[in-house]
Amino acid sequence: MKASIGGYAQAETVAHAIALLGEAGGEGRILAGGQSLVAALNLGTSEGDMLIDIAGIAALRGVKLDGDRLVIGALTRHCDLVRDPLVGEHAPLFAKAAPLVAHDAIRNRGTIGGSLAYADPAAEYPACAIALDAAIILEGPDGTREIPARDFFTGLFETARAEGEILTAITVPKAQDGERHVIREGTRRAGDYALAGLAVVMRDGRHRIGAFGLGDRPLLCQGAMAALDQGDVDGAVTALAQDVDPPSDAQASASYRRHLAGVLLRRIAADLGVAP
Ligand SMILES: Cc1cc2nc3c(=O)[nH]c(=O)nc-3n(C[C@H](O)[C@H](O)[C@H](O)COP(=O)(O)OP(=O)(O)OC[C@H]3O[C@@H](n4cnc5c(N)ncnc54)[C@H](O)[C@@H]3O)c2cc1C
Repeated sequence: MKASIGGYAQAETVAHAIALLGEAGGEGRILAGGQSLVAALNLGTSEGDMLIDIAGIAALRGVKLDGDRLVIGALTRHCDLVRDPLVGEHAPLFAKAAPLVAHDAIRNRGTIGGSLAYADPAAEYPACAIALDAAIILEGPDGTREIPARDFFTGLFETARAEGEILTAITVPKAQDGERHVIREGTRRAGDYALAGLAVVMRDGRHRIGAFGLGDRPLLCQGAMAALDQGDVDGAVTALAQDVDPPSDAQASASYRRHLAGVLLRRIAADLGVAP
């Protein structure tokens, strides 16, 4: 099917993009890398939209340090995350997650902001963001606001972003000495969306586990985290089964996904040297 769009405009600045969104009166759609949006347009699941292209806004690109936080611009592409030295040092979870996202062609255009805004429950970055205790930065007609990642994802492809807002960046606490980041997932084929996956941060001996493909949104797995903090891997696997709420679909049943999550958690515990 051919995409049916209502118009196209290139935004020069964030303020310009916000103004264009306002003018579009609810029909405006931000176009970043286009790797999810254009597919949705072609499938007819998104129609009649006024596309507001933000790809040329320089202020949304790049990675920098700001005090004790790392700031990753919304237009930072998957391929940039793999090789950026600041990401490698301070948020290696994203550098490890990026090669798991799709294929080279998509990683060369798709952006972290697009992935977070799209909020696919099987996507890697939203789960990484909650495991890292990240914050999402939004800019709109009423100014800038910051939302903890754990509150940003509100449902299936739903976020706390308001209609007229643009996701401008994600900020992450700088990694501390000895901090460990691990991500594991199960897929049918390399490059597919995960059937189930876990992103784990171990900081100061405490664990934060973000789950993907295991609910209608990325999940912070509090029961499994508490058990893992005690070195109780069996208890963590049992608790994880309660923390998640996986779907059943043509790819896998809910019980298969739950089982896979437990297997992934045991492997991650071994990666982290947590006693079995
Ligand atoms: C074949 C295929 C396989 C894929 N596999 C995976 C995978 O395994 N894991 C994975 O995580 N992803 C996967 N993806 C999705 C890919 O990672 C996309 O790049 C990403 O989800 C969206 O990024 P984008 O920059 O292309 O956003 P776009 O497609 O441009 O936009 C996506 C949505 O986010 C909105 N948006 C984009 N940027 C902003 C912003 N800054 N502020 C507000 N709203 C914004 C758009 O309006 C749109 O609704 C796959 C895609 C394809 C086509």
